[in-house]
Amino acid sequence: MMQQYVETKKEYPDCILFYRLGDFYEMFFDDALTASKELEITLTGKNCGLEERAPMCGVPFHAVDAYLNRLVSKGYKVAICEQMEDAATAKGLVKRDVVRIVTPGTNLDVQALDETKNNYIMCVVYLADHYGLSVADVTTGEYMVTELTEAEKLFDEIYKFMPSELVCNEAFYMSGMDLELLKEKLGITLYSLEAWYFDDTICQRTLTDHFHVKGLEGLGLSDYDCGVIAAGALLKYLIETQKRDLSHITRLSVYATGKYMLLDSSTRRNLELCETLREKQKRGSLLWVLDKTKTAMGARALRRHIEQPLIDKKEIERRLDAVEELKDNAISREEIREYLSSIYDLERLVCRITYQSANPRDLIAFEHSLAMLPHIKYILQEMKSPLLRELYESMDTLEDLCELVKSAIKDEPPIAMREGGIIREGYDKEVDQLRLAKSDGKEWLAKLEANEREKTGIKNLKIRFNKVFGYYLEVTNSFKNLVPDYYTRKQTLANAERFIIPELKELEDTILGAEDKLYALEYQLYCEVRDKIGAEILRIQSSARAVAQLDAFSSLALVAERNQYVRPSINEKGVIDIKDGRHPVVERMIPNDMFIANDTFLNDKKNRISVITGPNMAGKSTYMRQTALIVLMAQIGSFVPAASADMGLVDRIFTRVGASDDLASGQSTFMVEMTEVANILRNATSRSLLILDEIGRGTSTFDGLSIAWAVIEHISNSKLLGAKTLFATHYHELTELEGKIHNVNNYCIAVKEKGDDIIFLRKIVKGGADKSYGIQVARLAGVPESVILRAKEIVEELVQADITEKIKDIANHGHEKPDKPKHYDEVDLAQMSLFDTVRDDDVIDEIKNLDLGNLTPIDALNTLYQLQNKL
Ligand code: ADP
Repeated sequence: MMQQYVETKKEYPDCILFYRLGDFYEMFFDDALTASKELEITLTGKNCGLEERAPMCGVPFHAVDAYLNRLVSKGYKVAICEQMEDAATAKGLVKRDVVRIVTPGTNLDVQALDETKNNYIMCVVYLADHYGLSVADVTTGEYMVTELTEAEKLFDEIYKFMPSELVCNEAFYMSGMDLELLKEKLGITLYSLEAWYFDDTICQRTLTDHFHVKGLEGLGLSDYDCGVIAAGALLKYLIETQKRDLSHITRLSVYATGKYMLLDSSTRRNLELCETLREKQKRGSLLWVLDKTKTAMGARALRRHIEQPLIDKKEIERRLDAVEELKDNAISREEIREYLSSIYDLERLVCRITYQSANPRDLIAFEHSLAMLPHIKYILQEMKSPLLRELYESMDTLEDLCELVKSAIKDEPPIAMREGGIIREGYDKEVDQLRLAKSDGKEWLAKLEANEREKTGIKNLKIRFNKVFGYYLEVTNSFKNLVPDYYTRKQTLANAERFIIPELKELEDTILGAEDKLYALEYQLYCEVRDKIGAEILRIQSSARAVAQLDAFSSLALVAERNQYVRPSINEKGVIDIKDGRHPVVERMIPNDMFIANDTFLNDKKNRISVITGPNMAGKSTYMRQTALIVLMAQIGSFVPAASADMGLVDRIFTRVGASDDLASGQSTFMVEMTEVANILRNATSRSLLILDEIGRGTSTFDGLSIAWAVIEHISNSKLLGAKTLFATHYHELTELEGKIHNVNNYCIAVKEKGDDIIFLRKIVKGGADKSYGIQVARLAGVPESVILRAKEIVEELVQADITEKIKDIANHGHEKPDKPKHYDEVDLAQMSLFDTVRDDDVIDEIKNLDLGNLTPIDALNTLYQLQNKL
């Protein structure tokens, strides 16, 4: 047996081998060491013909899923090796084979997966100068392919899909990409596959064989050399690991990344589309507000829409039409949603059906789901928008399959497939007859029992059954003397004896024989029903997709109605004109109707850049994110939180917001910030929307101010970039740019002073803030009064050394040659700095002269603060 084990293991060196031995899956050698540690199970040993015992550990077969999930979620691959024949009847060593390899991207276990999320596996192929990328979800049968030329865009796609596993060719593995980032930060398991997976001919053949087409043209892949390899290698890998033909993968969608709005990873995170930045949870994200779907399929579809907004006006309008119609027909929509709530995850069910792992209860759930389709379709019939018409057309009501399950399977069948009780009376004559024989047999037993009691006079004689002896007669000790000769003793217990008689054994043969036959027949019929359903995959998938979309759009319609959203109009002039816009998430998080709505107006002419000032906590970042989210919502086809919205299409949204959570990666905040700025300036286009919050905060005041300034000049210049931008800053000096650069406008978020305190009005108004109110905000936050007082003193000193004049100078100077990058006189800048005149020696002297014996803690803190400011 150990030889067989070693042979099998040789074929799967990169997997942990779960080797079936009776009721356990055993692991040996290194696998056992790894698994015992990861699963916290006891390590034992087994004699294996070597000097030392082989390390061994095992998990019981009935609890295997939980152990499997733990290993897979930690990034291991597990090969499941089953016994292929019955150990009782096998001659010699039982034949064993690996039946499936479970990897993070191919895990099918419902317990381990979030049903509202796809579980993607991705394949990336890097050829000389471009990338092929293919993605699949084995649980739903989705399968896509695209090609890309830039590494950044590839990263954006990886972030979009967030696969749990990524397989790639050696060239990609070695291409210098930051793979550690993928592994550590995103938790993606990464494997580079052997070279043969990427062989052109093998890839092509894998695809043409699977889809039964003659050539790649049939799949729309003739122009995708790299894509073909990515898709082919991925499919091959899936076939190799799943060890079956994957008939539920019925189509390959070729998509162009240019069809969708591009969102880079930090923008996805910053806008909190599907999870929050800090807690990484759904509550508090845009998805949380928009997702009122009733089915798992709908939830996944909506998430996909949010993760890839459209950029084509026509397509957006089609979705908006559908959402509008569902919003206006609230009664029909709610009726549809009522029916949707009984619909089970058809996509994943189809997968289980093709994997032959669907149990009888799954089929009942399937039947109940299908029973809803005719009702839904009936209501859909009255809808007029083209998209809903399309869903109507593609929704097959599958009455034949519903009828099949209804007639064949009992209402409440067991989960087990081989223990009978599955097939409904009247579906199959033989089943009915065998059942009759079984129940008749029970009657005969009762008769026999009565007869024997009478014959022997043993009043409490009982016929019983157990798995070891089958049927037997039981006589308690008090009647022992009445037992006749023809009873054969089988077993003696403390207070009773057990016997058999020939008649009883004959009856037993009839009953058990009928039962065995019945169970086998029921199993066979069950499999036939399951496979008949399996043959209709295409029709089921088509309905499942229609249900998913309908659910997603109904959810958007309901949310639009409940949250008072309006339909945005879409323009191609590039004007973004939002009246009374609200932040979709913040308005749900604060008490009723406390959210203050604000306008946004941006265009390609005079209103390209809004410089937004205002104290911390005033609501600057809320305002900017709200604008970005409204743009994004409009482009997924959702209504938006505003009184009205005219939306110019945006090709990309970029955000550079606050201190990033990349600190852990070892880069300084400033470095992260500048890398993001560099990315934005390089990749944004004039059709992009830029959200820039506090650029330049991570460095000294004048460096920061200068960088922020230069960035605005660059963006505002249509020859260089010319993107629509919201720019929040605490550098009031930047308000000088209004009027100097013609497309920059100042806004601020109003606050009201009340004595020493301030009240936040949350209203955005034209003009720049004249004060930063930092000290008042510090007081609100609870900073000790002594520090507040000292800070006020320092401000006074600073105000006296007025530098505004200097800044005005630069603004005017810059205005003369707006199109050329400017090189400010370095001496000038040095003179601007108040503290540059303080040398470190002065500070050291001051420290030397401190009278520590007489310094209170507060004084010490104040002194330290002053010293630090001088450096
Ligand atoms: P800033 O970026 O100016 O520091 P934030 O945008 O973080 O300020 O806003 C601070 C808090 O103010 C938010 O957490 C939110 O609760 C509240 N807030 C912001 N804008 C509004 C608004 N328009 N209406 C009501 N509350 C708001």
